Amino acid sequence: MIENETVYESSLDHDFLDEIYALPGGQQIKKCIQCGTCSGSCPMGSVMDHAPRKIFSLIRAGFRDEVLDSNTIWLCSSCYTCAVRCPKEIKITDVMYALKRLAVKEGRTRGRKAVALSRNFVRMVDKYGRNHETELMTRYILEAELFGAFHFVYQGWALFSNGRLPLMPNRMKNIDQLRKILKRVDELGEI
Ligand code: SF4
Ligand code: SF4
Repeated sequence: MIENETVYESSLDHDFLDEIYALPGGQQIKKCIQCGTCSGSCPMGSVMDHAPRKIFSLIRAGFRDEVLDSNTIWLCSSCYTCAVRCPKEIKITDVMYALKRLAVKEGRTRGRKAVALSRNFVRMVDKYGRNHETELMTRYILEAELFGAFHFVYQGWALFSNGRLPLMPNRMKNIDQLRKILKRVDELGEI
């Protein structure tokens, strides 16, 4: 945590701010008045390394690693509460997505369970056109929770007993059309 360390000016990345400004939604953080409404409203704020207000402050100060390696961007649940309440109408959720994309681009995702879940969910949608819960959970456990797999046994059995974990996938019709849409969105850089 920054509070317990001496941070030297030379260790800061002063290009980080410009880099974030150049991202979609990044320019908006110039308007932040550090009122803290976003952090106070965020349902995940108490478990984040740095709540949203602090993330913006760290970006401005050049704390590149603190921002991109924090759990904040991965714990953001895209609830949009912060964006709705921000007095400066900053699209905070969009900025969180931009930071996620940058972290992925830089390979800062090792050990991130949220990334493993998201990556495998996208894989399911690309393969079947919709989620296949059984394959998703199997892939996720193998990738991110191998040593904690027994935690899922009771939960998995309860879901299976209630018909919520189908063994066979249900592939959507005309999946090529969905793939074309996703490819176009990808080309536009929206996901
Ligand atoms: S609510 Fe908006 S202006 Fe206030 S700290 Fe958060 S981002 Fe900045
Ligand atoms: S969108 Fe993300 S950062 Fe904003 S309040 Fe919701 S969880 Fe918190």
